[in-house]
Amino acid sequence: MSVSVDLSNKTALVMGVANGRSLGWAIAQQLLAAGCRVGFSYQGERLRPELDKLLAGKDGVWSQQADATSEADLVALFARVKEEFGHLDYLVHSIAYAPRQAMEGRFLDTTPEDWNTALQVSAYTLVSASRHAEPLLRDGGSIVSLTYHASQQVVPKYNVMGVAKAALEAATRYLAADFGEREIRVNTVSAGPMRTIAARSIPGFGGLYDKGARNASFGRNATPEEVGKLALFLLSDLGSGVTGQTMYVDAGLSIMTVKED
Ligand code: NAP
Repeated sequence: MSVSVDLSNKTALVMGVANGRSLGWAIAQQLLAAGCRVGFSYQGERLRPELDKLLAGKDGVWSQQADATSEADLVALFARVKEEFGHLDYLVHSIAYAPRQAMEGRFLDTTPEDWNTALQVSAYTLVSASRHAEPLLRDGGSIVSLTYHASQQVVPKYNVMGVAKAALEAATRYLAADFGEREIRVNTVSAGPMRTIAARSIPGFGGLYDKGARNASFGRNATPEEVGKLALFLLSDLGSGVTGQTMYVDAGLSIMTVKED
């Protein structure tokens, strides 16, 4: 059975598309297919050609450079949202970063600088982007971010990024409480391992991906398309009544300990 979602009178901002493999792009594809108008932000001009290629020939789309840690960039980005759309229905936060050295050694050796960078980029930017979005968000709007199970259990080398994801999940609940009166929902999607640029920067990700496929209850990893579909559910009215949640789309990986041979 397929459920069709009509978002032709809706608007969205997707933050964090590096290329066609990005989970932000998987979500944007679902939004665009449902007729939503979508604006995109990307961190550096280096990424712009990739995004331009993805957006070529699509109606109702635009993009703007914005480093999510820069207050000035956020002011300019949300001014652009206002200019293009007048209001906002959906915000997608698909951004994470930790310095490589923080994911190579022991968690015990995390420096304050690396801790601050990882937590600021990967968790605080959800709070700051939501605050900038607040005056533009229509009642009943929805915010979705991306998290990972290393927030709950130790994943080798994920280190401070696991702490950042725990902060993101907690921030999701606090934001959901703040936005509750206007029924603006805030949720985070916990995706299984996916082959993206961000994932490639995690030492040993290849092994993690292969083991994930073997151990998941489905015997495979979840796909970016499945991430997109869960995000579409949470963003759209299908997810009305759901807020403050961390929802898994991992083909049953996080529920397993060890699978029988
Ligand atoms: P991705 O394609 O590399 O996307 C990450 C994006 O974050 C990139 O566009 C990156 O831009 C952007 N970014 C980093 N720092 C930024 C900043 N200061 N301002 C604005 N943008 C910034 O990788 P992805 O896997 O799709 O990651 C998207 C989200 O999914 C992340 O939250 C990630 O933790 C989460 N996630 C991924 C997996 C997985 O296995 N891939 C699993 C669970 C959750 P630059 O390229 O310019 O740095």
